[in-house]
Amino acid sequence: MKKLKELIEEKGEVLPGDVIKVDCFLNHQIDVDVIDLIGKEFATCFSNLKPTKILTIETSGVAIAQATSLNLEHQKVVFAKKGNHFNMSDDVYASKEKSFTTGIEYSVRVSKEYLDKSDKVLIVDDFLANGEAMESLLDICKQAKAEVVGIGIVIGKMYLPGYERIKKQCNNIEVLAKIKNISDDNTIMWE
Ligand code: 5GP
Repeated sequence: MKKLKELIEEKGEVLPGDVIKVDCFLNHQIDVDVIDLIGKEFATCFSNLKPTKILTIETSGVAIAQATSLNLEHQKVVFAKKGNHFNMSDDVYASKEKSFTTGIEYSVRVSKEYLDKSDKVLIVDDFLANGEAMESLLDICKQAKAEVVGIGIVIGKMYLPGYERIKKQCNNIEVLAKIKNISDDNTIMWE
């Protein structure tokens, strides 16, 4: 997606530890027009698979999942919650994720009420790096016996193990902006 790559180059910042800061349109302030374009792109990629639910992980995945749903069939969006929430029932699918940006291990939960074996799930997220977050969502779908029909990623760090790790479990994976590498002077190189 050319426009997305241009935006990342223009407005993004590479922080130590290969963290790309795109707070101005994706991770803090949300540019709804950009998110809508992302939603349209995912809708084009995955509409033929007829997902019944869009699954993501809080926080930044939520807007992406909503835009995707609005451009598909208005499927319900479910977002996995990180950490312990006192207002969540105990009847949950639970997995674990080691955060790329903080290094902290979180528990990741989805209520059994919102995902089950009748679901055909499209998973979307903002970044794919080592694949921890996506692995936890795949694990939750496995526990629910739900079928994962596709995975949509906005920004993929293709030089890290996540992509290959996840592709082994779901072949139908689309990455809108594929980063081949980040040079020593913090220049982003695209695939
Ligand atoms: P992974 O679990 O694949 O290692 O990393 C993906 C998760 O970490 C995403 O859900 C995203 O929130 C976060 N993440 C990974 N890399 C970056 C990055 O460069 N910038 C930001 N803002 N988040 C990232």
